[in-house]
This record gives sequence, structure tokens and C-alpha cells, in this order.
Amino acid sequence: MDETDISFFKDGFRLDGRRADQLRPVKIEVGVLARADGSCYIEMGGNKVIAAVYGPREVHPRHLQEVTRAIVRYRYNMASFSVEERKRPGPDRRSYELSKVSREALEPVILTTYFPRSVIDVFVEVLQADAGTRTAGINAAAVALADAGIPMKSMISSCAAGKVADTIVLDPMKEEDNFGQADLPIAMTPGGEITLMQMDGGLTREEFHQAVEMAMKGARDIYEIQRNALVDKYSQLEAPAEEVKACE
Ligand code: ADP
Repeated sequence: MDETDISFFKDGFRLDGRRADQLRPVKIEVGVLARADGSCYIEMGGNKVIAAVYGPREVHPRHLQEVTRAIVRYRYNMASFSVEERKRPGPDRRSYELSKVSREALEPVILTTYFPRSVIDVFVEVLQADAGTRTAGINAAAVALADAGIPMKSMISSCAAGKVADTIVLDPMKEEDNFGQADLPIAMTPGGEITLMQMDGGLTREEFHQAVEMAMKGARDIYEIQRNALVDKYSQLEAPAEEVKACE
């Protein structure tokens, strides 16, 4: 099957009923793992992803230590049951690539110089995949880093735009990703500084600008959801006794 065999739009709506510029539903839960320093569960449409953050902690093996800063490790892993046909367990070329680009998307905002000789480990486990797992993973990891109390310059939010049937669409789902004409995931700070941009397929210059604009708008909307999820968790905690006293 190729893109000509599949109809991506019906009465102007996408296969899952969305408009071209609409995100899939996003749900974020903070602090879902008791033993991690920070954690997050995210659903972005059919993607279900958990991120766990450990650290800052001692680096093993020690020769990886950096004297002036913490190193950041990011492991993206797709569960064998996360896709339709069983995925062979364990790392592969794709997971190495996604781990690398996702780490690079987050590292610029982490204040690594606060923790010399240590490591911040980020684990991302994809439980269910439906295209856009790298963006879902980055969104969950950024929230988990904040939940772990890792000092960051800002949040990072990630979203993709794609091209199907000559139309630019936000947040492609699996059919659109697999049989579409282009995919362009980005990650950025709330201020619009881009820390990840990848692209496969082909776009004209105009389409490229339109896709970047659309993905940035999607990332801004996701930022609000990340922020609200963190505010929800931390506003439920009781303030420490001294702070209460100071307010009296
Ligand atoms: P992303 O998940 O970030 O969009 P890709 O573009 O590489 O990354 O993958 C798109 C989708 O293709 C995945 O979300 C998943 O649904 C599917 N996919 C990826 N790798 C496999 C695999 N090994 N087996 C089956 N499906 C896969």
C-alpha cells in the first residue's frame, strides 16, 4: 500500500475526525513512579509513554564523568508489545537515533554545570506506539525532569507536523506518518527556541515554513498541558511549615 491507496480526508476531516491543524488529545500525569526521582505518564492520541528520571547521581562507569558538569543519558525504548507486530526487544538503530536526538533536545535547558561529575539518567518507555513517540517521549521526559527537581532554564515541548495528500497536518498519527509525504518533528522552549528539528520526505519552501509554524503552535499548546499537569501536582502538596508561618 502507498499514499495513493489511502484516502486521508473525508469531508475535510482526517481519518480520526481531526481538522488539519488539530492535535490528538493529550493527557499528562506527573509522579507516577514511586522509585524514580521524577516521572511522567503521557498519552498523545494512541501513544502511551512513561518517562523516569534518576539523579543527579554518581556516574558509572566513572570514566564517563565530566569535571565541570553533569552528563545526561537518555534511553528511548519501545516495548515489544507497543506495536501491531511484535517488535524485537532491545536496542536497535532507530532507538539509538531517537535516544540521541531526544537527549540533544533536552540538554540545552538542563543546568548541568550545577552538578559536576554526576549523571542525570532519563528512561523513556513506549508502551503503545501510534507515530510521534519521540515527541511524546520528549514531552514526558521534560515533565519528569521538572518533577525530579532538576534545575532547568525552561520547559521543552515537542510536536510534529506532516504532509498528507498535499496538505500540511499537525501531529500525524500512524497511517499519516507511514503513508504520508513528509514528517517534521520539532522540540522547543516556550520562548520558541528550537532544540530539535528533523524531517523526512519532501516539502516545498512554503510548505516547510507552514509545517514549522504549525508544529510550533502544537508545541505551545502542549506546553500549557505540561505546565498545568505540574501545577496540579504541586499545588496539591502542603506548603512546608516555615512557609506557612511566613505567610501568617
Ligand atoms: P515516531 O514514533 O517518533 O514518529 P518513527 O517515525 O520512526 O518515530 O515511527 C513512526 C511509527 O511507526 C511509530 O510510532 C510506530 O507506531 C511505528 N513503528 C516504529 N518502529 C516500529 C517497529 N519496529 N515495528 C512496528 N512499528 C513501528
